[in-house]
Amino acid sequence: MKMTRREFFKMAAASAIGVAAASQMPLEAAKVFAEGNDDSAYKNHLIGDSRATNTNVDIVAPKEKIKYDIVDSHLHFFDFIEKTDGFKTLCKAMDMSGVSKSVIFGLGITKQWDSSMKEAPSYYLSNDSRCYYYSATDYMLAEELLASSNEIRERFFPFCCGFNCNDKFAADHLEQVLKYYPKFWSGVGELMSRHDDLTALTYGEPPHVDGEGFLGIYDVAASKGLPVLIHHNITGQNVDKILYLDELKKALSYNRKCKIIWAHVGISRRVEVKNLIKIADDLLHDNKNLWIDISWVVYDYYFLDKFPTNFYDGDSLDDWVKLMEKYPDRFLIGTDKVGHFNTYPAEVTKYYQLLDKLKTKTAENLCKNNVLSLVKTY
Ligand SMILES: [Zn+2]
Repeated sequence: MKMTRREFFKMAAASAIGVAAASQMPLEAAKVFAEGNDDSAYKNHLIGDSRATNTNVDIVAPKEKIKYDIVDSHLHFFDFIEKTDGFKTLCKAMDMSGVSKSVIFGLGITKQWDSSMKEAPSYYLSNDSRCYYYSATDYMLAEELLASSNEIRERFFPFCCGFNCNDKFAADHLEQVLKYYPKFWSGVGELMSRHDDLTALTYGEPPHVDGEGFLGIYDVAASKGLPVLIHHNITGQNVDKILYLDELKKALSYNRKCKIIWAHVGISRRVEVKNLIKIADDLLHDNKNLWIDISWVVYDYYFLDKFPTNFYDGDSLDDWVKLMEKYPDRFLIGTDKVGHFNTYPAEVTKYYQLLDKLKTKTAENLCKNNVLSLVKTY
C-alpha cells in the first residue's frame, strides 16, 4: 500500500474521530505513511500503537466560562478500535471543563479491520466490517487506571462492560472480572442492547435488554450494589411505532434491587419518536429503579431541537426542564466521548443551556449528586 501523509489526512477527514486520529499522529507514525509501506501488518500495528500513546493532544478550550462542578456519568476510555488518548490527556480535558470526577468504562464491542480493507477503520460506522465483543477492554482499563497516580485514580469510578449479553454465561464473566479486581468496580456498563447499526454489525444475534444474559447480570449487579448502564434504543431507525419499550419494562421489573441507568433516553441517530417526555415520565413513575442519562445525540436532537432531519418531536427544552423538576433525583449528564478528548470541553458546556434553567438544587443533582448516589465506592 502506498499512501502519502496527505492522503491519510484526506481519508481521516471522513469521520470526526478520524480527524482526531490524524491530528494526533506523531512524527514517527507519519514517517511510516510518508515512506509508504508494503502492506506490512507490523508497520500497520505501529501506526495504531503510536496513535494510542501520543499525549500531545490539542484540547479545544471551552467557549463558556466554567461555572458548574460536574461528574461525567458516561465516558469511554477506549474508542471502537480500543485506542485512547490516555488518562493524562483526559484529566487535562476534565480540568478545562470543570469536571472534577468521572465514571469511566472501555468499549465492550470492537471494530474488526478486515483483511480485504486497505484502510483501517476508526469508528463502528467507518465501513461495513463486523464488530465483536471485546472483554479485554475491562482488563486494559483496570491496568491503565491502577498504573496511574493516586491523584488520577481518585477522579474515576470504573465500570466494567466487556460482556456478550446474549450469553447466559455473561453473569459468570462479570463475577470473574469483579474477582480479579476486588473493591475496584463502581458499576457495570455501558452494555449494548438494540443499538441499531452497532448491534446489527456485531457478530451474533442482536442483544435485547430482557434476554437471559442481561437478567443474570442484573442479579449479580444488584447483589453487589453496582448500577447497570445500558444503551437500549426505544425503537428502530426510521420507524414510527415504539418497538422495544416493552423489553425495557420487563428488564426493569425483573429485579427491583437492580438500579438501571437508561442511556440517551433510548435515542440514537435516526431514531425519531413523538412524546418522548411522556414515555420517560411514565417509566420514571412506574420504575423506582430507573435513572436516565441524557448524553449524546438525544440532548442535541430532543432537548435543543437540532434534528438533522428537521423532525419535530413536539417537546421543547422547557418541557424537559419541567420533567427534571418533577424527578430531580433521576437524571444524569455525560459526555459519551470515546477514547479521544480533544473536543471534550464543548461536550460538557453544551449542558449549560439546560442547567441554567433548572433550580439550583436540581442543577446540582444533575451535575453530580445523582450519579454520586449510584456509583459504588470502597
Ligand atoms: Zn457510550
